[in-house]
Amino acid sequence: MPTQIVSTQAASDIALAAQKVIEKRPMLEPIVRSFAEILSAKSEVVNQLRVNTVQLDPLLRPERLLQGVPLLADVSLGILDEPLQEAFRAILPVLKKTFGSIAADLTSLESLQSRNELDLFELSRAYLGGEISVLHSFAQATHISEIVLALALNTTLSSLLTALEPTVRNYVSELNWYRGYCPICGSMPSISYLAEAHDLGSEFLRGGGGQRYLHCSLCGHDWRFMRNKCPACETEDRDLQLYFQAQEDHSERVDVCCNCNAYLPCIDLREGHVKLPMDMAAISMVHLDAWASEKGYHPLVQTPWNLIQ
Ligand SMILES: [Zn+2]
Ligand SMILES: [Zn+2]
Repeated sequence: MPTQIVSTQAASDIALAAQKVIEKRPMLEPIVRSFAEILSAKSEVVNQLRVNTVQLDPLLRPERLLQGVPLLADVSLGILDEPLQEAFRAILPVLKKTFGSIAADLTSLESLQSRNELDLFELSRAYLGGEISVLHSFAQATHISEIVLALALNTTLSSLLTALEPTVRNYVSELNWYRGYCPICGSMPSISYLAEAHDLGSEFLRGGGGQRYLHCSLCGHDWRFMRNKCPACETEDRDLQLYFQAQEDHSERVDVCCNCNAYLPCIDLREGHVKLPMDMAAISMVHLDAWASEKGYHPLVQTPWNLIQ
């Protein structure tokens, strides 16, 4: 793990990071302030969640990593029901305070939970598995917006998985993982970064200079990945991989794949980019998200900030 990465995400770190971003890009102030609130609340939930890893350990099958099966793929969220409920209860009021325009839907979700009428386990399972039809049926039956539901589930699951990540990361720390999805939770990355290369196999360095890491959008795990491979469709055709750079800052760019039309923001930490927690770094680049969407590219994954846009 490169030393530049800020690994602790205390609320004070996030507030400081938000301030740095606002100084650099004053026009992003509203969105940065909103998401700083959410990231701070998330870090508090992560610190408070008590995830029983003794219960979890016997369920892990690290030998399946070699076949590309993420570590938590076989673990039922059922055994994590208590921290899942706890995270949902803690996150909803923060989302409500931050996004007044969707407060009514969030209140409906809160009431369903308090009446024990919300199958959080089933909804979370469907969200993680990309079973859109389950989320769609729920949204229709309850008259709750699908985007609000996705936002609430994403933030909750992210808190739970971020709390779990440090307890299981040892299983994957020595692994050469050639996949575009996270070896721990199976989610796609929200951002990538280039750091100084250490002693790595040549397949990771093809394309020259610097090692590429992907940052998981849900559990926050970082893993190294090939420079010239699309994380979404896995093409290694260099002619199909382009990147666009902001004129004013060469440390920030967006990588796009002309094979599958996916885009992924990227930060070059070797260019003296200011140290930020990765989620805040991704939020500081929403103008590049907007640019890529306008050009017809799609994000690798839903994030709270591209959902709300
Ligand atoms: Zn993950
Ligand atoms: Zn692709």
